[in-house]
Amino acid sequence: MSSLVPVDGGVPEARCALCGKIASGPCARCRALVCADCCELTDGVTTFAVCLTCVRRGGASIGAAWRGLLGWLAVIVLVLAAIAGALVLLRK
Ligand SMILES: [Zn+2]
Ligand SMILES: [Zn+2]
Repeated sequence: MSSLVPVDGGVPEARCALCGKIASGPCARCRALVCADCCELTDGVTTFAVCLTCVRRGGASIGAAWRGLLGWLAVIVLVLAAIAGALVLLRK
């Protein structure tokens, strides 16, 4: 009989790049597959998982980058609102 059929009959599980456990998802920075124990969740617009290797290299700063972008958008909106307000006042 052939023994090529996998034992569980399913797709091979993705393994964590750091410890070899079953991976829960890719790192948001280096795309390495990591398990829940080997990543840190960062808060931003969306929650990112960053592997411990990337956390040690530069910190989990993807959320901060997103906040910086949102800050710039808020500044642009405020400037446009100020210009619109000035135009309304000038027309009176
Ligand atoms: Zn792991
Ligand atoms: Zn990583």
